[in-house]
Amino acid sequence: MPQKIIAGNWKMHGTKASVVELVSALRTGLEDSSSLAQVIVFAPTVFIPLLEAEFGNSDIAYGAQTVSEYNEGAYTGEIAASMLKDFECRYVLVGHSERRALFVATNEKVAEKFVQAQKYDLTPILCVGETLKQREANETLAIIEKQLKAVIDKAGIAAFRNAVIAYEPVWAIGTGETASPEQAQGVHAAIRAFLAGFDADVATNVSLLYGGSVKPDNATGLFAMVDIDGALVGGASLDAEKFIGIVNVI
Ligand code: PEP
Repeated sequence: MPQKIIAGNWKMHGTKASVVELVSALRTGLEDSSSLAQVIVFAPTVFIPLLEAEFGNSDIAYGAQTVSEYNEGAYTGEIAASMLKDFECRYVLVGHSERRALFVATNEKVAEKFVQAQKYDLTPILCVGETLKQREANETLAIIEKQLKAVIDKAGIAAFRNAVIAYEPVWAIGTGETASPEQAQGVHAAIRAFLAGFDADVATNVSLLYGGSVKPDNATGLFAMVDIDGALVGGASLDAEKFIGIVNVI
């Protein structure tokens, strides 16, 4: 059975003071969350030592928003998977649509990052999703299958035993627009069916998260869907009350 997961993506937000405040509110508010879901926060990398100190002995996991596809070397500004592991990260986002669009993360690069994360025992959360233009051209599934296939080709289908997939329609990210539960369920079911073509057991057990303007008030409808195993939350994850509210819905 897929594990329930609620993950927060803080993007490029926060100060030392605001992170300490947010983490302390999450620790208090999510003390007993491990029976509900695995909670993960993805912070700007510079705050990860702070998370290691604060979340070190709690059930809340943390990670980075991207990772280099290289081991180490002359890659100015990049962060290696081994470095994240050194700071006890357990998860990492790969292929977030903002990375794909703004930082030239092609499907092949995303696949390399996925492989590199697993090499250092980090669980990748692979983000996939279509733009509005692609949805309107009826290309949603073709685009997502291409994004998945690039990773399957590189890592093999078995790699998804230690990975999570987040379906994030680009048109719903940070826009306040959410896919309806039925729209999201339709894509999640199609992702499972696509994976089942490679390995039925992997398809049944991989956690499929939905992302795109998830809030406590729309989470109920989304989490009622059979193939939605949790959420990747952007904006609302910066507000402790809203994020805890979403965890409580699951
Ligand atoms: C995201 O950044 O992954 C995301 C889903 O953002 P938001 O919840 O703000 O739409």
